[in-house]
Amino acid sequence: MTVSVDDLNLDNYWMPFTGNREFRHNPRFITGAEGVRFIDAQGRKVLDGLSGLWCCGAGHNRPEIAEAVAEQARSLDYAPAFQFGHPQAFLLASRLSAMMPEGLNRVFFTNSGSETVDTALKIARAYWRQRGQPGKSRLIGRAKGYHGVNFGGISVGGIAPNRKLFGSTLESDHLAHTLLSENRFSRGQPEHGAELADELEELVALHDASNIAAVIVEPFAGSAGVIPPPKGYLQRLRAICDRHDILLIFDEVITGLGRCGAPTGAHHFGVVPDIANFAKQLTNGVIPMGAVVVRQEIYDTFMAQGGPDYMVEFPHGYTYSGHPMACAAALAALKIFDDEKLDEQVAAKAGFFEDCIHGLANHPYVQDVRNLGFAGALTLEAYPGEPARRPYEIAMACWERGLYVRYSGDTLQFGPAFVMDTADIAEIFNIVGDALKSA
Ligand code: PLP
Repeated sequence: MTVSVDDLNLDNYWMPFTGNREFRHNPRFITGAEGVRFIDAQGRKVLDGLSGLWCCGAGHNRPEIAEAVAEQARSLDYAPAFQFGHPQAFLLASRLSAMMPEGLNRVFFTNSGSETVDTALKIARAYWRQRGQPGKSRLIGRAKGYHGVNFGGISVGGIAPNRKLFGSTLESDHLAHTLLSENRFSRGQPEHGAELADELEELVALHDASNIAAVIVEPFAGSAGVIPPPKGYLQRLRAICDRHDILLIFDEVITGLGRCGAPTGAHHFGVVPDIANFAKQLTNGVIPMGAVVVRQEIYDTFMAQGGPDYMVEFPHGYTYSGHPMACAAALAALKIFDDEKLDEQVAAKAGFFEDCIHGLANHPYVQDVRNLGFAGALTLEAYPGEPARRPYEIAMACWERGLYVRYSGDTLQFGPAFVMDTADIAEIFNIVGDALKSA
């Protein structure tokens, strides 16, 4: 069905994370996609600088995924998620487990990153209770962390505008972020700041480990503007968690499934968490889906404490957990991941991406450049009192020049599709450079 955007009534749709009033004055419609480009309502081809929202790494409109979803819709559109199973969910759980670091092999399906986070936090708290330590309930996140928008996620999340309107949240603490001025313009992981992980020791001293369930971090912070962890930081966090019997949760919703140039951020950084969260890239963005992957011992604890076999061991789940269509999309997406070695493609081109983004270091307004794998961000000098305005203006100038780029806070963010070639990557940064110079 083709709809003329000129005839659209813009009144009823309340857009998420959007300046709704501004959009109505300046609507930007995406009506199609092809490979690594969107097509807008005027028929222009617009380079996709963020794989949608970090989710379409294999490029848009992949026929393999479209066919798998269509076939699934014809053969089994829906099956109840509770008490009954369908084969694709088991196939996908096995497939995903095979991609995980050693030991992470039990998979719980959700429908988004936010649900994945809240599920992981519930698993962590319930795990300690099932082990006879109900006091271990406190959750620790990190400043500048983004863990979605549900109540668990905003409690451990560290982005103030996403928390401040919503009243009291779950009891939680936050480690300091690792965005240090001495690390500005670092390529990849910065040198300074590993010792910031030791703040966890301070929190243990304050609360006692007998009251702490889990620490959750993104391997690199994505939504706050691509903040790679200082060298050694994640290793230190892991060691402290081990010392005090605290679960370590990696929120890999952006870092997982290729973005770092490895199957997961855990592989890339050489640190294995107890629980890992995935979403976005799992279906290449085609159908909403997320997954929490846990160490077998965590799962076994629930099974051991579950009572008679017919009883539910973990009273949690969604009507659409492991939805057949989502499973079909994910299986097809992970086949592409394998066949086209998407993680290796990222690893091979990450150096080129790094050179391109750091080529903007001396452009007007650029105060910092950060990158890792196929992820990068610029921090832009703020208008006095208006940190978010400059990125918005530059992003609009990019859109006019044929590039979709994400702007958030005082940053512009980049996350090309894993399949993007070097000419298109160079084009992204040529357009941004031009927009900055013309601003
Ligand atoms: N966790 C992380 C690390 C994310 O980057 C995001 C989304 O960007 C989420 C959770 C939330 O995902 P969703 O928007 O699918 O709920």
